Amino acid sequence: MQYRTEPVTMWFDRRLVLRPSPIQGIGTFATEPIQPGEMLIYVTGGVVFTAEDWQTGRISLVGDLYNQAILSENLFLATPKAFHYYINHSCDPNAIDQSQHPTATQYVAWRAIAANEEITTDYALYGEADIAVCGCQSRLCRGQITTDDWQLSAFQQRYRGALPWRIEQRIHQVNRSNETNQQNHET
Ligand SMILES: [Zn+2]
Repeated sequence: MQYRTEPVTMWFDRRLVLRPSPIQGIGTFATEPIQPGEMLIYVTGGVVFTAEDWQTGRISLVGDLYNQAILSENLFLATPKAFHYYINHSCDPNAIDQSQHPTATQYVAWRAIAANEEITTDYALYGEADIAVCGCQSRLCRGQITTDDWQLSAFQQRYRGALPWRIEQRIHQVNRSNETNQQNHET
């Protein structure tokens, strides 16, 4: 199989810059106030490759320069590292990735963002990150971030209406199997 590169779009709000972050490494920051609901970052496509492409050397990427996402068990996507890569985690985030497709990233302001505030998101919304000791320093800090946080009802309540579609799907699946179990129990 020939690997293919999906058309890449990278759009960034002009009020974003990269700076050293008090949370971790480099972060994305707002230079001016941003209103809730405004789009901040829109990235689509990238280099799509399989595990075999990687193992056989058909694809060779310098890891430090790409942001890699897992599309499925055997399919990966890499985009050049830019603002979307430098979004740190906060338990009290101001932005959420509301993309509706696995090969897109679309960060939207979830609440008002002040000038010089760091753009953050809650990594648990994407069910991927494990953080043993969170450094977000917010009042709402959960301390430890796990890949199962999305299953907490307080978590689902908090982000209701803003949950990424992947998480919504997983919640529906869990609810459906709970219903089935209940029905089986009743009959
Ligand atoms: Zn935290």
